Amino acid sequence: MSLQGKTAVITGSNSGIGLGIARELAKQGAHVVLNSFTDRDEDHALAADIAAEFGVDAKYVAADMSKGDDCRRLISESGACDILINNAGIQHVAPIQDFPTAKWDAIIAINLTSAFHTTAAALEGMREKGWGRVINIASAHGLTASPYKSAYVAAKHGIVGMTKVVALETAQEPITANAICPGYVLTPLVESQIPETMKEYDMDRETVIKEVLLKRQPSKEFATTEQLGGTAAFLCSDAAAQITGTTISVDGGWTAL
Ligand code: NAD
Repeated sequence: MSLQGKTAVITGSNSGIGLGIARELAKQGAHVVLNSFTDRDEDHALAADIAAEFGVDAKYVAADMSKGDDCRRLISESGACDILINNAGIQHVAPIQDFPTAKWDAIIAINLTSAFHTTAAALEGMREKGWGRVINIASAHGLTASPYKSAYVAAKHGIVGMTKVVALETAQEPITANAICPGYVLTPLVESQIPETMKEYDMDRETVIKEVLLKRQPSKEFATTEQLGGTAAFLCSDAAAQITGTTISVDGGWTAL
């Protein structure tokens, strides 16, 4: 499998799953564009490291995925976008009556609306080149729910729905659109939930991981960023050309329960 000559744009890719996917696609020969809103030296250094390690072109483009114009500028500044990975995401946990409106708005903007803007901006280039892959990083929470995650669950169910629409609108073209639904992956997003959960349940770290985080993940293991990168690479392969408008769960059996 080779992605030589393709360019992958991965939103929210200076850490966690996005960076894992960028590294895997670069390993397959794709040029990659990393993104976050932070614009630090270390963000640019991540791109330089990928270029050096895998011998591909890699660059970092700062753009805030909570802003529609920035989402569209990310695609135009990338130069090319054969593979679009909509990955940027944030989380906030609170009962719905206490859920801050600003957090609701930010989660819907970053986890859902950004993918509308980037996809709308990227499709023209894919059509011109006659090949494209749109891969949305949803979640097990795109298919099931948990209490206290109203905005996140709404955004992730929303992106699964939007994935199906994009697949139908591109069904007769060599473009596919799919969503990957990870269970728990130990990234900064999940790591940040551990201290609060330890306090809330009066548990140590290991117990929180096993009995709270991985409670609904029957494998009792985190999925890894490398496995998600491999799943994205598969969706980019010729073998996946007729896979469109669907979800692939990488969740250790969560959604089988
Ligand atoms: P992470 O915190 O490591 O990564 C989130 C990324 O989004 C970072 O690169 C961050 O810079 C970026 N980001 C946040 N706000 C942004 C903004 N306004 N503009 C641009 N970039 C922004 O978390 P992660 O776990 O790697 O999450 C990546 C995606 O995977 C998210 O969509 C998340 O919902 C999804 N996901 C994660 C898990 C998990 O267990 N970690 C499970 C299911 C789905």
